[in-house]
Amino acid sequence: MRAVVFHGPGDLRHEELPIPVPARGEIVLRIDAALTCGTDVKTLRRGHPVMIPRVPTVFGHEFAGTVSAVGEGVRAFREGDRVVAANSAPCRRCLSCRAGRPNLCEDLLFVNGAYGQFIALPPRLVAENVVLLSPALPAARAAFVEPLACALLGVERARVEAGQTVVVLGHGPLGCLLAMTARARQARVIVVGKTGWRFERVRALGIAECVDAHHHRDVVVAVRELTAGRGADVTIDATGRPEVWRQAIEAVGRGGTVVFFGGCPPGTTVPLDTRRAHYEELTLLGAFHHTPELVRRALDLLESGTLVPDGLVTHRMGLDGVDQALELMATGQALKVLIEP
Ligand SMILES: [Zn+2]
Ligand SMILES: [Zn+2]
Repeated sequence: MRAVVFHGPGDLRHEELPIPVPARGEIVLRIDAALTCGTDVKTLRRGHPVMIPRVPTVFGHEFAGTVSAVGEGVRAFREGDRVVAANSAPCRRCLSCRAGRPNLCEDLLFVNGAYGQFIALPPRLVAENVVLLSPALPAARAAFVEPLACALLGVERARVEAGQTVVVLGHGPLGCLLAMTARARQARVIVVGKTGWRFERVRALGIAECVDAHHHRDVVVAVRELTAGRGADVTIDATGRPEVWRQAIEAVGRGGTVVFFGGCPPGTTVPLDTRRAHYEELTLLGAFHHTPELVRRALDLLESGTLVPDGLVTHRMGLDGVDQALELMATGQALKVLIEP
């Protein structure tokens, strides 16, 4: 089979590999659709010790496919089943898992290999995080389950409710999915982004009210103006930049909730106005990854048509296009690239 293999930072190779044979408890999928992700770009640049502990590995982690072979002992799936799989599975045994927070599992098993024609899924993933698709759901849409489950975690952590004002800082694919998810909860959503092709796309999709950071000297002032001086009920950083985390804190109103969704470079810090944090009872939350429950709820949102992410796919390519796709992502010329191996 053909595959795009990650050998280390900056080293992506197109290779011919044997089609995997499922071991006991495993299934093998033929990949029908894969999506590029901002994390791919980060990982290609500097590696990712958590998501990719060992190299070489086939690259990519957002995918949906059709079961092509089933290992001994697998009851839940059969050849020909269309499924989506998350890119990790929790252990169910560690303290975090037992505390009901499997996204913080101390032994998360990560799976990579979306940019290949086939992938073998390990028993733990098969048991925890592979879900059947209805015949009507296109694979390209199902492949959104993983990033959408992450977005759901952010919105869930903030307990977003109907009628609240939610400000999403950042207009990358996850900023858009966060906005769409908050919108699905009947919140008023404002996306803060910067002039350019991608932001125009967000505007055209009608996902949210748009605040162009280039046109306002101060984003925080712009948000306060749009909220009658109060500030937002919820602000979500989807950029992973400390200066934007700071804006997220400043743009939230009394009693508000800030979600730190984008991961910043290690060692960075942000200042905190202690008076506001205390007297205005700010809630400051991190949000990381997803849970098996949210993976299923993300799929429900897609299956029911409550959330249709198709507009975020800006390009469509085969495996040959993966390098170009990641280049487009790195230079901000794409939101999501659909890879059809
Ligand atoms: Zn991703
Ligand atoms: Zn665990």
